[in-house]
Amino acid sequence: MGWVTAPRLRIAPSPTGYFHIGTARTALFNWLYARQRGGTFVLRVEDTDRARNRDEHIAGIEAALRWLGLDWDEGPYFQSQRGPLYAEAIEKLLAGGSAYACACSPEDVQARARAAGNKTPGYDGHCRDLALAPTHGRVVRLRTPDEGESAYDDLVYGQVSKPFANVQDLAIRKSNGDPLFLLANVVDDSDMAISHVVRGSDHMDNTHSYLLLWNALGYGPAPVFAHLPLINNDAGKKLSKRRDKVAIEDYRDAGYLPEAVRNYLALLGWAPGDDREIVTVEEMMAGFRLEDVKRSPAIFDERKMQSVNSEYLRGLSSEVFVERTQKWLEERWAPIAPLVQQRARTLSEALAMADFLFLPEVPLDSAQWQKEVARQPAFGAILDGAIERYPEVEWTAEALQAATVAVGEKAGVPQLGKAQAPVRLAVTGRSVGPPLFESLAVLGLDRTLERLRAARDRLGR
Ligand code: GLU
Ligand code: ZN
Repeated sequence: MGWVTAPRLRIAPSPTGYFHIGTARTALFNWLYARQRGGTFVLRVEDTDRARNRDEHIAGIEAALRWLGLDWDEGPYFQSQRGPLYAEAIEKLLAGGSAYACACSPEDVQARARAAGNKTPGYDGHCRDLALAPTHGRVVRLRTPDEGESAYDDLVYGQVSKPFANVQDLAIRKSNGDPLFLLANVVDDSDMAISHVVRGSDHMDNTHSYLLLWNALGYGPAPVFAHLPLINNDAGKKLSKRRDKVAIEDYRDAGYLPEAVRNYLALLGWAPGDDREIVTVEEMMAGFRLEDVKRSPAIFDERKMQSVNSEYLRGLSSEVFVERTQKWLEERWAPIAPLVQQRARTLSEALAMADFLFLPEVPLDSAQWQKEVARQPAFGAILDGAIERYPEVEWTAEALQAATVAVGEKAGVPQLGKAQAPVRLAVTGRSVGPPLFESLAVLGLDRTLERLRAARDRLGR
């Protein structure tokens, strides 16, 4: 074992702009294990992909963990700030012959795989023995054995093995010199003395390459692995951002209680030993064991989470219930209130102007919708443009306005007032209301996109 006394675990999210249900479940299991044994729970942000590395994404990770009550002891550490450590490891691997430079473009790799009739296109080892210099513009790959078998013990899945012939030479450094996930992940687990790697089973294959790297870097005994089962939706399909509501933030915004969400997450792969669905955090702490995690995919069913949530709601005293609803409302009301204050004649009117922020579904005014659809031939083109552009903009009112102007121009609607009308209807359900871009800024990217897409579907092609 790589640990002598208290275990060290980590949650290592990549900044994606939202906190995935699966990441939350992984964080919970790591946290439970660390807390049960007086261990340490580390937060490490895996932001090697510079394009995604945005401050608000990182703030979102911390906010989601705090909301779920999963406190961490160390970090956040940022991979983007640890470049020299990774460069040094890559040097060492190159010098020892465990890694090599590769001059193939992704197109070359694909073309050869296709020509060879490979069903799962991967890298064929073309540059392995060419002794190319690891110059800028070339990726660096891990050399994997051709013979024998890779095997490791997993606390959940038992012995996991794979013939080395099926483990491809994965890239560990990009052609621009940036380290890749696999390398940074291994270097950090060693540097942070992680004793248990508890993560999604989508990483099970990576673990073979992980261990090759670990050993090539001479790190000594490797951590213990526990891979957690996939999470499927209630139709048995793998949870996906496009199809399913996978962001923890969506449930926070919909008014779930964090303790109920945490309870439900614990049931995604683990059970307290009977059919009980309500498990307090103390009971989890007492009963949770990695060895008891199930291998079969867990099913995420929002209705089930709703029923757990309603149990928690009923369990609150009425004073606490009032407090919790008020707090939820206030957090959402504070940023939008100044925008409606100048426009409303009464308090109830003020609330009605901002109801789209609180309601789970858009309060659609269908008469106005039909009128606007009939009047604006570019309605669909504007929605398409917004759906395409908004994910790329900095989420501020000014940037959203500029993006909407650009969308309008492309759709042949240069006047901002006209270009924003379809967006306003899609997102707020009405054609009048508080300033649109400030409202979108409060609503957030995910909910905005979800509503734009729903409107696009409603419109048809
Ligand atoms: N950044 C990886 C992910 O989000 C972490 C994998 C790991 O926990 O090792 O999937
Ligand atoms: Zn190559």
